[in-house]
Amino acid sequence: MGAEAKKLISLLTELGRVTDEPGRLTRTFLSPAMRRANRLVGRWMREAGLKVREDSVGNLIGRLESRAPRARTLLLGSHLDTVRDAGRYDGPLGVLLPLVALATLRRRGVHLPFHVEIIGFSEEEGVRFSSAYLGSKGYIGRLPARTLRLRDAAGTSLAEALQQYTRGRFTAPKAAHRRRDLLGYVEVHIEQGPVLEARRLAVGVVSAIAGQSRFKLSWQGKAGHAGTTPMELRKDALAGAAEFAVGIEACAKATPGLVATIGLLSVPAGAANVIPARVDHTLDVRHASDRVRRAALRKLEALARQIARRRGLRCSWQPTQEDGAVACSPALSVRLERSIRSVQGRSLTLVSGAGHDGVIVSRLAPVAMLFVRCRGGLSHHPAEYAAPADLAVALRVLMDFLQGLPDDLRD
Ligand SMILES: [Zn+2]
Repeated sequence: MGAEAKKLISLLTELGRVTDEPGRLTRTFLSPAMRRANRLVGRWMREAGLKVREDSVGNLIGRLESRAPRARTLLLGSHLDTVRDAGRYDGPLGVLLPLVALATLRRRGVHLPFHVEIIGFSEEEGVRFSSAYLGSKGYIGRLPARTLRLRDAAGTSLAEALQQYTRGRFTAPKAAHRRRDLLGYVEVHIEQGPVLEARRLAVGVVSAIAGQSRFKLSWQGKAGHAGTTPMELRKDALAGAAEFAVGIEACAKATPGLVATIGLLSVPAGAANVIPARVDHTLDVRHASDRVRRAALRKLEALARQIARRRGLRCSWQPTQEDGAVACSPALSVRLERSIRSVQGRSLTLVSGAGHDGVIVSRLAPVAMLFVRCRGGLSHHPAEYAAPADLAVALRVLMDFLQGLPDDLRD
């Protein structure tokens, strides 16, 4: 492993110690640990020759100016906040890896024909305000008034928290750039899934970030004595929900790329000797194509209606979240793939089933993502791990990509 990968690992380790909770890594939006993290990473950015600022929502931004006249700006970054009891790679990798890459290129005397901005987004995980992407939304200038009114568990509004963090200097954020001044946004992130590991590859390129729909479903049947009610006279809400669960599994398996999950299910007022009168559960459906996802949802709704009718149940659907899919930029992704092939021999294209800052930044600039293998696909856990050799591959890929990227790239 080269000196650059060693440097990256030492930075990841040091940043991984910056936490709000002793003994485990928890760094939430605008917390004291976040302020310390921004100070620390800001210092590393300055040492790498970047000009550093923090915007009004706590995003840390380091900028390296190109000598080229009328150059556009390439954005590189990810988030510096974490979930509770997190690993040290999810987020920070996409900030620190580009930082080491830029420092290395600079040391080698490489001048890029575009400006580079490395962004450590202040919020992506949605922990404090139960609303995700607050950092990137601020960066692109779309933090609506209703979001600023959200309150955390302590009752502090987002607007109040931002006023405290900026010592009274918070103003509603404006977009950091005009669209035409941007070359694109590239995010390096651990895969948080098992595909690269199964295919024995260190890195892969993301074709799209899956769109997702979430629902709350409620099945209504009829309670009855578990001993005295014959099977043919029952209206068992759980049996209906269970048939539906098996049905969604079959539908997802029959639709390439579709994933569908019931992650929470409850039998309110249930008892061991009572036929379930009611079952509530969630449903999470994702696909890289919005058209395929919507077609699948229509099928699933029809299936639920059919099961309910046959079993004499009522079934209600309540949508709780819908995010469209984000297609990655073909022009940026092709170049990323080329760099991957030149470093690891072959490339693999994956769909990101999880959301990332790129979902929001895509409203301002073309986006691309480089995924790095993580052990067991594990993430949002202290045992999250990416091998040093894989980080070294990712570093070489990003440096190759940066050196080959022209300033006049268009999709
Ligand atoms: Zn992340």
